[in-house]
Amino acid sequence: MTAPERRAALDAIAAEVRACTACRLHAGRANAVPGEGDPMTEVVLVGEGPGVNEDRLGRPFVGRAGDLLVRLLASIGWQRGDVFITNVVKCRPPDNRDPEPDEVAACAPYLRRQLEVLDPALVVTLGRHSMGRFMPGTTISRAHGTVADVDPATGARHARVFAMYHPAAALRAAAVETATFADVARIPSALVEARELRERSVRTPAGAGTPGAAAPGAAAAVGPDATGADPLHAESHDAPQRQPDIDQLTLFT
Ligand code: URA
Ligand code: SF4
Repeated sequence: MTAPERRAALDAIAAEVRACTACRLHAGRANAVPGEGDPMTEVVLVGEGPGVNEDRLGRPFVGRAGDLLVRLLASIGWQRGDVFITNVVKCRPPDNRDPEPDEVAACAPYLRRQLEVLDPALVVTLGRHSMGRFMPGTTISRAHGTVADVDPATGARHARVFAMYHPAAALRAAAVETATFADVARIPSALVEARELRERSVRTPAGAGTPGAAAPGAAAAVGPDATGADPLHAESHDAPQRQPDIDQLTLFT
């Protein structure tokens, strides 16, 4: 899909979300928060659900947690507009309670469809609710800062997942904030690794690839700047490929 096609598809999903009454959370919302970002990005960040500021503005991560998220991204040279940011539920749970399982289930098709359109190389989960959808069967304290393969049934057909603490948790505890800055520093190498595995699985017939073969963190030694290229804006596999420079070529051979 081209960038305009992706934009149109994402806008159509957002319009459905704004009109959605599929779960009880619609009753309390001022604005639904479908998500926003670069339609051609390789990286999708998934939070839990809108808070009061997000509900007021209809945009994800615009309160204090969002400010920290922007600082976290800045620490690796990224801006929020470089990625796509969305949530597991698109409407604000009252009193910032956790979303209930039936609400998460009702909202799941929107996230799945967004991921089908975006087809990211890396899904970054923010907090344990989001992690539970993409990296089931673990705990956030064990999984933060690690990567795993993503079940294609999530909509992300060729992606790996990188788990992080929720920025709001980092705001509450200095130790979590320190760990989160350390985690975010590993995202560029996780992306390089995810992209490499993805290119292999796209080129190889289904099932023949070994997307789980590389150990988590195996690309860490490469370092985020080893490509000398902008790691966020390489073209998706189904769009025209950008001509790789020589450093990139050596990285992928
Ligand atoms: N917390 C979330 O999980 N999502 C937002 O959009 C804002 C705060
Ligand atoms: Fe619809 Fe999701 Fe909002 Fe529930 S949270 S009303 S399923 S958009």
